[in-house]
Amino acid sequence: MSKQDYYEALGVPRNASEADIKKAYRRLAMKYHPDRNPGDKEAEENFKQTKEAYEVLTDARKRAAYDQFGHAGVDPNAGMGAGGPGFGAGASFSDIFGDVFGDIFGGGGGRDRGGRVYRGADLRYNLELSLEEAVNGTTVKIRVPSHVACQTCGGSGAKKGTSPTTCSTCGGHGQVRMQQGFFSLQQTCPRCRGSGTIISDPCTTCRGEGRVEEQKTLSVKIPPGVDNGDRIRLSGEGEAGQMGGPPGDLYVQVAVKEHPLFVRDGADLYCEVPIDIATAALGGELDVPTLDGRVKLKIPPETQTGKLFRMRGKGVRSVRGGQTGDLMCKVSVETPVNLSGKQKELLRAFEESLRDNGTKHSPRTSSWLDGVKKFFDEMKF
Ligand SMILES: [Zn+2]
Ligand SMILES: [Zn+2]
Repeated sequence: MSKQDYYEALGVPRNASEADIKKAYRRLAMKYHPDRNPGDKEAEENFKQTKEAYEVLTDARKRAAYDQFGHAGVDPNAGMGAGGPGFGAGASFSDIFGDVFGDIFGGGGGRDRGGRVYRGADLRYNLELSLEEAVNGTTVKIRVPSHVACQTCGGSGAKKGTSPTTCSTCGGHGQVRMQQGFFSLQQTCPRCRGSGTIISDPCTTCRGEGRVEEQKTLSVKIPPGVDNGDRIRLSGEGEAGQMGGPPGDLYVQVAVKEHPLFVRDGADLYCEVPIDIATAALGGELDVPTLDGRVKLKIPPETQTGKLFRMRGKGVRSVRGGQTGDLMCKVSVETPVNLSGKQKELLRAFEESLRDNGTKHSPRTSSWLDGVKKFFDEMKF
């Protein structure tokens, strides 16, 4: 599922201040609010996205993670220290607003008492590869910042020998009800911040977080044939879970750098080959590059600029298997430059010899002139 960029969702620049983000959110939330757009699925989706974007971009930590790793850095299904149900792809409307608009929409949903675990966030790593690396495969070492479970407390956040106790403010629910005007709002418990438990004696290593930040180096095998936009999933290499939850996954997102000679389109490669006028007219043979060395390309006589020559099997084999593609060489006939006086004279004399035969030597010109004549005849000035 492709998700809209958070900044775009709010229509603010990437360096927008928190005040700007709040302003944009208020405006859009009013516009798309379900009360104002009953039954409008699109408005509902917009409202959802706006709210999600707002929640991430006004949280300095989440915003930093989003700026670095995109949506994967702030997977809302995971690591929600502030509590509340996730708003991932499958979440229903009332799930999403349960915590804020619970009573308005009759949602809210029950929360399990205690024992909540949070799966760690998925991470995304943007990996740039050369075309050759993408086609042939490679092994790369990448460094990813990550939260890992604290060794000292085993991830509980409580000092060795102690354990977290149930929060007395919310009774372990993680949520409290507040009266605001005539609405009764359900809110994240301010005391335990949604976890439902209180750590009275926090672990000194992780300051009660249950996890610590660490850089880890991973060796990632890139299979041959990957292309721009492919993702390689490294199961369990994302952030550590909270409260003993499972770790998230790491997604290595492949971006292939532009190549000076080749452009890839699926399994096929394209390259442009300049040829001189004489070779184009008389035919000849030239060396063209392929990813596995030079090969000869035969140019037949009377080759026009733009002609595509297909070299079978000189393309790419996709990571998903299937046939190896072809290399498409597009010739472009070059106009000679930096001519000497003598060369110009020769060319003029040659041109005159062609003109003696009308447009016989210029296949496109004659059909073009016919087309122009027909066009003006039909206009009947
Ligand atoms: Zn700890
Ligand atoms: Zn609480």
